This record gives sequence, C-alpha cells and structure tokens, in this order.
Amino acid sequence: MKFEDLGIIPPILRALKEKNYEEPTPIQAQAIPMVLKRNDLLGCAQTGTGKTAAFAVPIVQLVHRIESKEKGKPALRALIITPTRELAIQIGENLEAYSKHTIAKHAVIFGGVSQHPQVEKIKKGVHILVATPGRLLDLIDQGILRLDTIKLFVLDEADRMLDMGFIHDIRKILKLLPQKRQSLFFSATMPDNIEKLSKSILSNPKKVEVSPVSSTAETVQQLLYYTNRTSKKDLLLHILENPHMNQVLLFARTKRGADRIARNLSKKKIKAAAIHGDKSQNQRQKALKQFKEGSVRVLVATDIAARGIDIDKLQYVINYDIPNIAETYVHRIGRSGRAGEEGCAISICEPEENVYIKDIERLTRQRIKIINDHPFPQTDSPMTPQEKREWNMEKQRRKKEFFANRKKRNTRSRV
Ligand code: AMP
Repeated sequence: MKFEDLGIIPPILRALKEKNYEEPTPIQAQAIPMVLKRNDLLGCAQTGTGKTAAFAVPIVQLVHRIESKEKGKPALRALIITPTRELAIQIGENLEAYSKHTIAKHAVIFGGVSQHPQVEKIKKGVHILVATPGRLLDLIDQGILRLDTIKLFVLDEADRMLDMGFIHDIRKILKLLPQKRQSLFFSATMPDNIEKLSKSILSNPKKVEVSPVSSTAETVQQLLYYTNRTSKKDLLLHILENPHMNQVLLFARTKRGADRIARNLSKKKIKAAAIHGDKSQNQRQKALKQFKEGSVRVLVATDIAARGIDIDKLQYVINYDIPNIAETYVHRIGRSGRAGEEGCAISICEPEENVYIKDIERLTRQRIKIINDHPFPQTDSPMTPQEKREWNMEKQRRKKEFFANRKKRNTRSRV
C-alpha cells in the first residue's frame, strides 16, 4: 500500500515524502480513506503506531479542500483534544509538517504557560486547534474562543483523558460543539467506560484497531536483568557501557527517583536529564530537545511525563524499575521500535519486583529473555536495615497507589 493509493492530495504527499515516510502504517492505511470519506472513526491504537498522521493528514486535507474557496480570516474548523501538553506540542509539530504546502493554519494551546502568544495566534485566525481541555475551556470562558464553527472533532488518548480526571471537561466541551460534525475517537484501550463515552460522541463509526495494549510491538527485543536493589545503579552503568546505546529513554517510578538517577549518571559523565511533573514546561522542552538532538544521552522520565514523547527511531528503553501495573510496561516499551523500527527494552528487576514480571508475561503472553551474564546477579542477601526501612516505605506507597487506582477504576466504571 502506498500513500498515493489513499486519496491524499499532492501537496500533502510532497510533505510526507519530505518527512521520509515511505509507506503508510496499518492504521494510516485504514483510517485515512475513511476520514476523507467523512466517516466518524473509532480507533483503538496506542502511540507509536502512526495514529497522529492517521487523523492529522486527512484533517489537513479536508481543511485545505474546503477552505481554499473561503476568503478572509480563517474560521475554526477542526478541534483536536489531547490530554498532555507534550502530546499537544507533538500533534502541532506533525500538523506543521503535513500542512506545509497547504493553506491549513493551526494553533496549539495548553496550560502552564502564558496564554498571550496562544491568544495572539488564535486571534489571527486558524483552521485547526490542538488543545488540552483546561486551557481550552479557560479561553472559551474568557470569550476568546467559540466552538460553533467546528466541523471536525478529534478526541485523542481517551483512556488517558479519563485516567487524568478530564471527564467533566470533556462533557463541557461536547456541549459546546455543533451537533452536526465529524468525530474521531482514539484510545489505546477500550474498557467499558471508554466504549460508553465513544458512543456518546460518535455516530455510526467505522472501526480501526491496531496492536491492542497487551501485544507488545513485534520489533521490540525485550531483555531482563535480575539484580538486587542496591546494585541497580552499577548495573545501569554496566549496561550503558554499550556504545550503541546513544539515545536511551529510562523510566523511573517516582519524580525524586528520576532526579536521583539523572544526577548519578551525570556524576559518571553520562549526559542525562530528567523530565517529570515538577519540572517547568521550559525545562521539559529543553530536555526533550537536547535528547532529540543527541546532546543528552539518557532521558529519565516518569510514566506520565513520558507519555506522548515522540522521538523518531528511539531504539532503547530501560525500565529502571518494574511497573506494578502490567499495562504500564507495555506502554513504556511501546516507546521504542516505533513505526516498524527495531527497538530494545531492557528491564532491571530487584527481588521484590519478580512478581510483577509474572504479571507482565501473563498479559503479553510472552517470555522476556533473561540476561544472566552480568556482574550484579540477584542474590538472596538480606537487606541492610536502611534498605529495609526504605523498602517498607516503598511497599506502603505502592499499596496506597494500588488502592487509589482501584478506587479510580471503580469510579470510572460507573461513569
Ligand atoms: P505516532 O503513533 O503518531 O506517535 O507516530 C509514531 C512515530 O512514527 C512518529 O515519530 C511519526 O513521525 C512516525 N511515523 C508516523 N507515520 C509514519 C510512516 N508512515 N512512516 C514512517 N514514520 C512514521
């Protein structure tokens, strides 16, 4: 299948060529013609499958086709809602690339930064708006934005939206949209509450589904190192001796942990930066930029901050800890081996985390390859009193997190 076979207009085909996209990914091949034919769409796909282009390309095309005839200030025609600022920025970057040779204009709005430049851009007129829910509602409340001219609506990462507590905001936004519109709905997972929400948004949708969350990307090699808690630091340095690992996304469970790992690596002259919720927007963008350019070798991230990071051809992911929720593992390793590229996910497991590996293998129905040949194998050596205290605190924290998540899940299933 070629992009030329999907009904895409020449200016966008040119832009895709300039982005070195050779052929459409499965979700693009399925979704693009459906959206161009003005169908509603229910897409079950996670990041890394090429889902952004699957909705952004046809939106740019529809806007270009329809709005080329219009004169005067552009009217807002498409709204894309996404949960995090990182995702919003990345969708904006994709729109920028795909719309390069078209008349389609877009803006990206998100909270945590001054609204002024965003408002200036909107006031000049845009056809496509990418927004996080909070900032969008804020600008609507201030009378700066209206949604009554929207013809295309995209809800991206719906499951994440609900996880982050955006359900009320989404309901408010839906009320402000015209009834007559085309809607696209994307989610990595489709539990009952998400399906119910999709039904309230879509009308007679076409469905596309690629790599459900339990199927890890086939191109990702998964490796597992068993070690002790105290040896993780040294084992990480040992793993990073591999000179091929020049761009590594490393996951840490906590914000403090992320900072500590980045600090330890920097002390050993390994260029590292941490991104997490306590970092300012500027700090996060700077770290991401340096990582993309190659001046930072290891980007240490918490799960929420890493969600939506879009790095072409990211090859290595390291799990410095094993997530206690198996789906999180699948999301993490989905960051490597994107769009058909090869990837490698390395997990570092301490004794208390062995049980999580079992959960993961059950979910993915795959055995992770164990690497025994390394200098820091797992032993049953007793913990020092300090380690024991830390571990007990960590256990308490995880227990709390587990019950909080369960409560959230129960609340959500009632939504
Ligand atoms: P997404 O799932 O939209 O986050 O895309 C994942 C990554 O794949 C991004 O870096 C895209 O730029 C890239 N990508 C998307 N579609 C293609 C394609 N058809 N060929 C090559 N790379 C692509």
